[in-house]
Amino acid sequence: MKLEKIILSGFKSFVDPTTIPIKGNLISIVGPNGCGKSNIIDAVRWVMGESSAKHLRGGSMTDVIFNGSSGRKPVSTASVELVFDNSEGRAGGEFAKYNTIAIKRQVSRDGQSIYQFNGTKCRRKDITDLFLGTGLGARSYAIIEQGTISRVVEAKPDELRLHIEEAAGVTKYKERRNETEMR
Ligand code: ATP
Ligand code: MG
Repeated sequence: MKLEKIILSGFKSFVDPTTIPIKGNLISIVGPNGCGKSNIIDAVRWVMGESSAKHLRGGSMTDVIFNGSSGRKPVSTASVELVFDNSEGRAGGEFAKYNTIAIKRQVSRDGQSIYQFNGTKCRRKDITDLFLGTGLGARSYAIIEQGTISRVVEAKPDELRLHIEEAAGVTKYKERRNETEMR
């Protein structure tokens, strides 16, 4: 799965609809302090189902919605969409048949999130399932932020094991086993 575009609207500082194309081998995003670089990473993590406001550097889940600036009024919804090229079928199982995978999350001021998979409403779980075992996902090792490396180095054996299981593709099966046991 290759990330092709990130489409943001009303998300943090990205008030107007913005498409960030990821062509070729994008290696960095540069810009002055406060221009929105980290907000892009927050957006990617959010659309993949992040449910902790703290992990998105906010106090509550609706803090991701553009809350106004000197010249602009706040808006009522935020949305982020990720478009992946899946022509190599890396997304496994029932997802392998899609050449393009688009996932979208939208939130309004009441805090309700709506998720979409290729334009159709779906559950949060459908999105998290898609990324299980791919190394992507809201809390996966594909996103390494300040402090993550020292967290891995200092991790207790149990925590380290979770990273290794994700890399080995075991997480998906553990998750399904847990679900079965809960039924
Ligand atoms: P640095 O180089 O300092 O790490 P950065 O480019 O990573 O900066 P971000 O943290 O992505 O910057 O962006 C911070 C900006 O986003 C601030 O100006 C902040 O006011 C704005 N911002 C964050 N949340 C919202 C929101 N909900 N509504 C409007 N603006 C927001
Ligand atoms: Mg930053």
